[in-house]
Amino acid sequence: MNIFDQVLAFFTPFDCVGCGTEGLLLCAQCREGLPGASYRCFLCLRPTLAARTCSDCLNTSPVHSVRAATGYQGIAKQLVRKLKFSGARAASKEMGQLLPPPSSGARAIIMHVPTATSRIRSRGYDQAALLAKVYAQRAGLPFVPCLVRRGQQHQVGASRAQRMAQLQSAFSVNKQHKVKDAHVILVDDVVTTGATLQAAAAALKAAGARRVEAVVFAQA
Ligand SMILES: [Zn+2]
Ligand SMILES: [Zn+2]
Repeated sequence: MNIFDQVLAFFTPFDCVGCGTEGLLLCAQCREGLPGASYRCFLCLRPTLAARTCSDCLNTSPVHSVRAATGYQGIAKQLVRKLKFSGARAASKEMGQLLPPPSSGARAIIMHVPTATSRIRSRGYDQAALLAKVYAQRAGLPFVPCLVRRGQQHQVGASRAQRMAQLQSAFSVNKQHKVKDAHVILVDDVVTTGATLQAAAAALKAAGARRVEAVVFAQA
């Protein structure tokens, strides 16, 4: 290893999560190979323009649209694991570049969906915040974290309705004046049922947000 290789290895001590090639966390070839996400309503999964929430679901949903970079499978799953367990900063940079860009002309504020606090405590950082910061920097929009998540009691055997009720009260807004009349872009790593996004968006709408859209890395 010459001095140049040593310096490079110091700054990029990763193997590609896809193919194991030394150097970057995600090599150019594996990045190209990530499947694009289909544009659909995140609740009923019907195809829609620009991944907007369909008009039926919009009757009960505070979320305008949910756009994803890719499906939650294969390499995408590996990257999400990195973000959660090790190599978080490198993963957040990689994933933040892959997130769909903000809708054109949007004067929006960016914030993350806070992770449940007990999990942050054991890990020392919030992976969604890392991702949202990278995204805000890339988009040239302000990162304005306003959502607070209260600790969740994971009740074994709680019914779906009980879990929903817990989730609804899990989020609050701590800087109401920043949120009032704002166009908010919520950033998260993965969306599955969308229940967490719904709860976070409901809190923002209650605080006066004009529009809440979501940008996520992977859609299950
Ligand atoms: Zn690769
Ligand atoms: Zn729908």
